[in-house]
Amino acid sequence: MAITSELQHTVGKTAGFSGTSLHTGEKVSLKLHPAPVDHGIKFKRKDLQDEPTIDVKIDNLKTVERATTLGEGAVRVHTVEHVLAALSAMGVDNAIVEMDANEPPIGDGSAQPYVDLIKKAGLTAQEQPRKFFDVREPMHVESKTGALLVLLPDDTFRISCTQAGPNNRFAQFLSTEITPAIFERQIASARTFVYYEDVQPLMEKNLIKGGSLENAIVVRGEAVLSKEPLRFADEFVRHKILDIIGDLALVGRRIRGHVVAVKPGHAANAELARVLAREQARRSAMSTPRAVPLGDGGLDTDEVMKILPHRYPFLMVDRVIGFEGENKITAVKSITINEPFFQGHFPGHPVMPGVMQVEAMAQVASLLLFKLAKTTSRIGYFMSADGVKFRKPVLPGDTMFIHAELTKSRGERLAKAKCHCVVNDAVVSEGELMFTFLDK
Ligand SMILES: [Zn+2]
Repeated sequence: MAITSELQHTVGKTAGFSGTSLHTGEKVSLKLHPAPVDHGIKFKRKDLQDEPTIDVKIDNLKTVERATTLGEGAVRVHTVEHVLAALSAMGVDNAIVEMDANEPPIGDGSAQPYVDLIKKAGLTAQEQPRKFFDVREPMHVESKTGALLVLLPDDTFRISCTQAGPNNRFAQFLSTEITPAIFERQIASARTFVYYEDVQPLMEKNLIKGGSLENAIVVRGEAVLSKEPLRFADEFVRHKILDIIGDLALVGRRIRGHVVAVKPGHAANAELARVLAREQARRSAMSTPRAVPLGDGGLDTDEVMKILPHRYPFLMVDRVIGFEGENKITAVKSITINEPFFQGHFPGHPVMPGVMQVEAMAQVASLLLFKLAKTTSRIGYFMSADGVKFRKPVLPGDTMFIHAELTKSRGERLAKAKCHCVVNDAVVSEGELMFTFLDK
């Protein structure tokens, strides 16, 4: 058990359910599908052309008013925090959440329907370890609306939450560790609650067509209106904890730490997720490059230089860290402040020139072509580059991973390779390169 809990998990099989969406009131069906290791959670819009997907990550967060909206390009999914809370707390690391609308079914306003769905689909352990964010020192965010979130080091994931409504009505406190069993019994069934004064204008504008006492508790003055009695005396603070779990799922890693939350809301929760993601990126930037497998696995500098004729300052590959099958290669280049191009590009503001990244792609693709042709008597000359994009600046101290995949080779003389460079798990540049071979 202790060992399995350290491994990534996906759902055992596809399972689904349907219901009503909150904002449009239309029927929607949601399906959970298994996904491979390191896939993370992605939403898929089955109702749109080409069935686009949206990655669950903080960079895709669009709005946090009343509910959490994610988007990529023009595609959106709304009100995703409860399904994300269930997936995260129940231990699903990798899955596709397929929907035929822009919102999941609202259910009863809690995470219970999603927990039931995950249990129906089952869980399968995968062969890679889970990714954790370990809190090393206290971190905090504070909002103008009075929300305060503090994160403290802890061996487990805990949340201590204080919730209070207008004029401190319904002040409630709960502190608990979050495990799948505790989430299922203590948190999942806590329903959404709204203050009458907040929803009345929305009801008048017909913005919450699917909203009713079936899927939310309405608080009017001191009165609590709901279809069934409160499920817990402190149901509101339990729902606040549910929302924190769902919003922190945007970090993309399991948190080992203690969240102390005072009057939390989606905006403050998302801000904390953003702070954690930024800290994670900083830590990844400082991690050492992977060890080089030599022999069949990769090529060291010496072997690279036997193949490529390039030399200082134009050798843009430090090592090849691996080949995948016949047509994929990954190489690495550490970028230091001593690179000659930083002197002039730009003085006082060092940024790696994009063309040098294209040069690195071309050299790495040549190494792959050499492996296929098994001769050093010819050299691949770079003929053209299509679809070249520079997405993020590459700075001194970055470790750049260069990936190339051979997509086409025509006879002995022409080849095409799709390439991209990655720094800190983000693509910084990409392009499709064409080569011709000439004798040296
Ligand atoms: Zn909620």
